[in-house]
Amino acid sequence: MAEARPAPDPAHDPTFAELIAGRPALSLDPASGLLVEEVPLARIAALHGTPTWVVSAGTLRRRYRALAGALAAAGLAASVHYAAKANDTLAVLRVLAAEGAGADVVSAGELRAAEAAGIPASRIVYSGVGKTRAELAAALAAGVMQINAESAEEVAMISEVAAATGHTAPVALRVNPDVDARTHAKITTGRAENKFGVAYAEAAALYARMAGMPGIRPAGLATHIGSQITSGMAAYRAAYARLADLARELLGRGLPVPRLDCGGGLGIPYRDEIPPTPEAFAGAIASTVGRLGLPVMVEPGRWIAGPAGFLLASVILEKRSGGRRFVVLDAAMNDLLRPALYDAWHGILPVSPARLSAPLSPAEVVGPVCETADTFARGRLLPAFGEGDLVLVCDAGAYGSVMSSTYNARPLAAQVLVEGARLALIRERQAEADLWRGQRIPDWLGG
Ligand SMILES: *Cc1c(COP(=O)(O)O)cnc(C)c1O
Repeated sequence: MAEARPAPDPAHDPTFAELIAGRPALSLDPASGLLVEEVPLARIAALHGTPTWVVSAGTLRRRYRALAGALAAAGLAASVHYAAKANDTLAVLRVLAAEGAGADVVSAGELRAAEAAGIPASRIVYSGVGKTRAELAAALAAGVMQINAESAEEVAMISEVAAATGHTAPVALRVNPDVDARTHAKITTGRAENKFGVAYAEAAALYARMAGMPGIRPAGLATHIGSQITSGMAAYRAAYARLADLARELLGRGLPVPRLDCGGGLGIPYRDEIPPTPEAFAGAIASTVGRLGLPVMVEPGRWIAGPAGFLLASVILEKRSGGRRFVVLDAAMNDLLRPALYDAWHGILPVSPARLSAPLSPAEVVGPVCETADTFARGRLLPAFGEGDLVLVCDAGAYGSVMSSTYNARPLAAQVLVEGARLALIRERQAEADLWRGQRIPDWLGG
């Protein structure tokens, strides 16, 4: 296993004031402490306990509108297909459905969730490097807008399933443009050595072949080069220029290319990153694939959902060990995996006004799970905490609750939605009895 990267220098971490100012969902009330929209986090903890995921509906809406608006302002006929894997809670999907969003799904489960939340199949794109025949049949029966195929083998499989079930499958080809998105190695997807998409050099021939196959209606081209892209627009522009070249070549050969799917990946600031703006993203699309005048699609997940979500946790205790201060939370890597999986940095805020203005000293912020990787932050400047103090982990709305597990027999956390002064439980905390639901003890063991 690779060595953990050294913790970034806490002297360069954003201050509490900067973290709050950079997150429009948050504000500070001198009496009740941190609020999400108009709801005090202390009230959420009192009502629903901790750890609890908190989602700001206003932030979801604002970000969806900002992205859709930037695409429209760039003169693009663009549709936004929210990548459901970032957070597929039904209420989150419903907020975006009400905004007119489509969805990008990668499993039959996500397809069902998106439909259940009110996103019509006619706005759903089915992506993913390995879809089973059963999933393909479900997608076709539902009447999805588009299936993004990732290999010649998969195109053949789609053709067979469509022909066998009497459907015509709208299939776009996901092309691997072989560009380096310069993001974390575990979330880069557009390099030739990654598992995703069809090799650029083989894409035109496969598309032409696909156009003649039974049960298939060519739906265009797609690409998605990675996630948490913050290194500027160069990689995007390179990928989209290649996509546009390929589309021109296919159109020149008289093949139908109804639309171009530009993927997702737009990054967000967790610490001090300066990601491209929606306007820059829209501009890169407009100046490349946009020139073709075709409808375009985008599939943002993190950009919409990440800043809209938080993980509210309580301090169990503080301990000193080996000359370090450890703040032990009741949330853990089984709730929010990103720090363990990606060495991700998340802003951590005390919730009470007194703690927000108290003297700071470095601390290791950890969970109770029996893994050294169960560490939310290292060397983080935080006030002294007492038992039961609330802390808020920022920017946990994407790839947060969806990656949770029950490791260490820890029930899945509750999730609430806030909109203005309204607060609703949108996912119950898992009951302990649910941890072993579906398990059986064999009769020869006395079960
Ligand atoms: C994960 C994924 C997305 C969304 O990525 P974000 O970084 O969350 O925007 C979009 N399209 C495809 C095909 C994906 O796999």
